[in-house]
Amino acid sequence: MKSLLISCVLLSITTLGFAQRSCGSTEYARRMNYNVFSNQDNLGQTSQTARDTFANEIITIPVVIHVLYNNSTQNISDAQVMSQLRVLNEDFRRLNADASQTPEAFKSSAADCRIMFCLAQVNPRGAAQKGIVRKFTNRTSFSVDDDMKFSAAGGDDAWDAKKYLNIWVCNMQSNSIGYATPPNSEAVRDGVVIQYDCFGTVGTVRYPFNKGRTATHEIAHWMGISHIWGDNSCGSDGIDDTPRQSNYNSNCPSFPKLSSCSPNANGDMFMNFMDYTNDACMNMFTNGQKQRMRNVFSGTGYRNSFLKSYACDSSLATAAPSVTEPVKQEKPLPSVVIYPNPVQEQMQLMPVNGYDLKGKTVSIYTPSGVLMSTRILNASTNKIDVSTLKQGIYVLKIGDNNDRQVLKLIKN
Ligand SMILES: [Zn+2]
Repeated sequence: MKSLLISCVLLSITTLGFAQRSCGSTEYARRMNYNVFSNQDNLGQTSQTARDTFANEIITIPVVIHVLYNNSTQNISDAQVMSQLRVLNEDFRRLNADASQTPEAFKSSAADCRIMFCLAQVNPRGAAQKGIVRKFTNRTSFSVDDDMKFSAAGGDDAWDAKKYLNIWVCNMQSNSIGYATPPNSEAVRDGVVIQYDCFGTVGTVRYPFNKGRTATHEIAHWMGISHIWGDNSCGSDGIDDTPRQSNYNSNCPSFPKLSSCSPNANGDMFMNFMDYTNDACMNMFTNGQKQRMRNVFSGTGYRNSFLKSYACDSSLATAAPSVTEPVKQEKPLPSVVIYPNPVQEQMQLMPVNGYDLKGKTVSIYTPSGVLMSTRILNASTNKIDVSTLKQGIYVLKIGDNNDRQVLKLIKN
């Protein structure tokens, strides 16, 4: 049945050409014998028992983009890279403008996943380096075989997969416009691959993959969720609030799209990021998908180490800069900076981009979640005495559930 299904997918891709979305993740995971993306997550938990990290904290993931090019067109601009990061920070926070297009029937299922992405500021050797690596390759194209992840094969080696989400942007020879590794994959292969002209919203991007949703889809696989149709006829993705579908959807159907396995008159959730519809047709993750994705960051999750990664913070670089590419972040989001960090006695919290500290609660936790101290801020610049903390890494949370900043604090 599975091989029949794959044959059908390949046949339809061949028939429809490159305008049909095709993701290589499921086929890749099967070939590599990785036990996801199945209808139970990789911890063997059901969606009812999936755990969160600190409840609903914003998880920030440092990203490194490996741009592999054989010609100048494939060497996409910084602006194109940053346009992709903007889309990710909108889609995983449900700040995307087209969230309003979610049909009324599905709106209560739509989730702010409270996951964000930053371009890495510190490389694995501790030096200040922006997370865009550009590399000429003799390879005119790559396939779903991981060669782009190895310098020896004409690609570029991964940065430490415990701290960085590696994204390789290159020219794919196959019909797949992207693929991802599941959360339990080998570190040197871990990450996401995206076709260079299906990445971001400006520059080389081509319709209908010109809204950055290929990366949104693949990164969700990287966090362990599967296709919404469960890669099977009327299959299940193991998530309670995504309706069963008879198959994937293409282009952009009209709501409601019914089939023989539709659970009710609302039909398919074809606007879910885990279907195969056009970029402009997708606009939501569900609460169940959010729970499953956040589960991989929990204490026992495969991606828990990301909660302790500080690669987004350039003030933590310990060596001289190795590459200084000026990269401007579009639409910077309000945030807070800790200074100094690492700190010995007293630290200062400094608001950035209009973040308002006044009246916010600040709590310091150990990485395992033990509360060490808490206080309410009363001015726009604040000093906090941390002289009594032991040496180590701490998690600093500022603000309430709907507007919470989470920062790493290093005590020397
Ligand atoms: Zn996929």
